[in-house]
Amino acid sequence: MLKIDLHCHSTISDGLFTPTQIIEHAASRHIQVLALTDHDDVAGAEEASIAAREKNITFIAGVEISVTWQNKTLHILGLGIDPHSFALVNGLNTIREGRLGRAQNIARQLDKFGIHGGFEGAQAYASKGKLIGRTHFARFLVEKGYAKDVRSVFKKYLVKGKPGYVSHQWASLNDAINWINGSGGQAVIAHPGRYQLNKRLLESLLNEFRELGGLGIEIVSPSHSPEQIQLFAHYSNRLNLLASCGSDFHGPGESHFDLGQIPPLPANCTPIWQNWGI
Ligand code: AMP
Ligand code: MN
Ligand code: MN
Ligand code: MN
Repeated sequence: MLKIDLHCHSTISDGLFTPTQIIEHAASRHIQVLALTDHDDVAGAEEASIAAREKNITFIAGVEISVTWQNKTLHILGLGIDPHSFALVNGLNTIREGRLGRAQNIARQLDKFGIHGGFEGAQAYASKGKLIGRTHFARFLVEKGYAKDVRSVFKKYLVKGKPGYVSHQWASLNDAINWINGSGGQAVIAHPGRYQLNKRLLESLLNEFRELGGLGIEIVSPSHSPEQIQLFAHYSNRLNLLASCGSDFHGPGESHFDLGQIPPLPANCTPIWQNWGI
């Protein structure tokens, strides 16, 4: 069976391995096809593709775009994108600039709460200071002893209703899908089970996503229970959305599941890689 993982992160966003290390790790785990899908940045694609060639891994350039839809933050994966696409690169630049302002707001809130130096502290964990996100704040807060690990620090400080949470306007669903499609990629809704959508909202998202040109749905993800995997497999078939799978690996110690450590797609699904020639 094909060993494939279509969702993971490197130091370009909030992962712990460099793009080269991700590929080396994938090789050690006997992964045959790997997509690097950093948040809002495609800068790791070139390095990873060179490393992948050496290790005989089929590399898929990817991205995970932050989107605001109906006042909720969603993540849209772009698979097989062209990392040089002007509209995509431009759009992602704008999102990363927004992340800087948001990080300053997060730091200001933490400051009011008596936690000082958050912005510089988080930036020290962000690769080349280019993309900054909540995970970098989480690592800073763990370093300062506010919680024992990244997971518990999120619950206490960085989610809605907690001191270090600020609401933020990300890209529109329409823009994200257009950037992905315009660069020759395929748009996939990442971990749909994470958004706490009721049946009506979920169906409205899937239909709108489809109408805007979205093609796939991430069915197999560590974020999903076995029941959710079945539910999303059902929607995949009903709405003709291609099935994707990925570990969402960020690094040892920060992810419960290792690269490639995911169950197979349910048998009745059409894999997104069906026409990739792999
Ligand atoms: P951001 O895009 O800056 O809001 O950060 C989102 C990232 O934070 C996700 O991709 C995860 O890596 C991480 N994250 C979000 N929620 C949690 C959580 N509850 N526990 C651990 N990491 C989380
Ligand atoms: Mn992340
Ligand atoms: Mn995500
Ligand atoms: Mn992810």
